[in-house]
Amino acid sequence: MLIDSYDRVVDYLRISVTERCNFRCNYCMPEKPFSWVPKENLLSFEELFEFIKIAIDEGVKKIRITGGEPLLREDLDRFIKMIYDYKPSIDLAMTTNAFLLKGVAQRLKDAGLKRINVSIDTLKPEVAQEIAGKNVLKNVLAGVDEALAVGLKVKVNMVPMKTVNAGDIVEVLEYCRERGMSIRFIEYMENAHAKAEIKGLKSPELLAILGEKYKFSDDGFDGSSPSHYYTMDDGYRFGIIEPYEDDFCKQCNRIRLTAEGKLIPCLYFDEAMSIAEAIKRGDIKGAALVLKEVVRTKPEKNRWGGEDGESSNRAFYETGG
Ligand code: SAM
Ligand code: SF4
Repeated sequence: MLIDSYDRVVDYLRISVTERCNFRCNYCMPEKPFSWVPKENLLSFEELFEFIKIAIDEGVKKIRITGGEPLLREDLDRFIKMIYDYKPSIDLAMTTNAFLLKGVAQRLKDAGLKRINVSIDTLKPEVAQEIAGKNVLKNVLAGVDEALAVGLKVKVNMVPMKTVNAGDIVEVLEYCRERGMSIRFIEYMENAHAKAEIKGLKSPELLAILGEKYKFSDDGFDGSSPSHYYTMDDGYRFGIIEPYEDDFCKQCNRIRLTAEGKLIPCLYFDEAMSIAEAIKRGDIKGAALVLKEVVRTKPEKNRWGGEDGESSNRAFYETGG
C-alpha cells in the first residue's frame, strides 16, 4: 500500500498519455504558439504499462487516462486493454474533450474502459468556439451521445468563468440531468499558461446562481472524491471542485504521470521525479523506489488561495488536470 507522509493512502494514478491537444482552451493552453515535447521523448504504451504494473502491485486501484487530449494518441484501446487484462477489477476511466469520441467509444468500452469525464463548458456553439479556439461543440455532443449509447458512464466537467460561460451553468446542468450524467463544476485554477484575463467563478458565486433556480442540500465530501457534493430536491447530485478551500487536499489520493514519464506528487507544484530512465533499462526496483519517494514527498496541500500567490506554473495540458 502507498501511504504518504500525512497518512493519506495513494491509490489513484492519473496518466497523461500526451500533452498535445486539438483544442486551445483559454483556461488551459497558451495563446501563443509553443513547442511540444518531441515525440521521441514520449514513453511508449509498453513502457507506460511497465510502470502501471508496478503501481498496481503497490496498491493503485484507480487509473485515469488523460492528456492533453488522450484520443489523439493512436491505439488507445490497445493500451486500455493491456491495463484491463492485467487487472480487470481496476477502476479504469478517461478524461477527454470528446471531439474524436464518435466512432471509437465502442472500441474503448470493449477494451475495458468503464467511465469517461467529458469537458463541456457551454452548449452555445459560439461560446464553445471562444473557449476552445475552434468550432467544437457539434462533435463533442455527438461523442457524448455515442458514449452513452454504448453504455459508458459519462460525467461532465465544466469550468465556470465570469463573462464567458457563467450564463450557461443552468443549461449545462439540465443537459446532464436529462441524460443521467453527473456534473462537476471545477473552479478555475489560476496557472501561468491560461489566458490572463480569465476570472473563474468561486463556489459561493456558483451556488448563488444555482440557488436562484433550485433548492439543494449540502452533502459535504464523499470518500476520496475532491468534489463537494450538493443534492437537489429530486435527488440529482452535482459536485463542485474547490481547490482554493483549506480542506481540499485532506483526502487527496492521487499522483500523476506525464507522457514523458515524470511522476508528479501534486497538481500545483513544479516538483516531479522521472521514472523514464528506470523503465527504459528494465529496472523495476528503481522505478518502484521513485514511486515510493514521490508518494513520500507529496505535499500536504496546494497553494491556490495561499499567501504566496495563487497561480501555479504547472501546465494542465501536461499533467492532465
Ligand atoms: N483534454 C481533456 C479534457 O479537456 O477533458 C483532458 C485533459 S484536461 C487538462 C482535464 C481537465 O482539466 C478538464 O476537465 C479541464 O476542464 C480541466 N482544466 C484544465 N485547465 C484548468 C484550469 N485552469 N482550471 C480548472 N480546470 C482546468
Ligand atoms: Fe485540451 Fe483539455 Fe486543455 Fe482543453 S482542457 S486545451 S481540451 S487539454
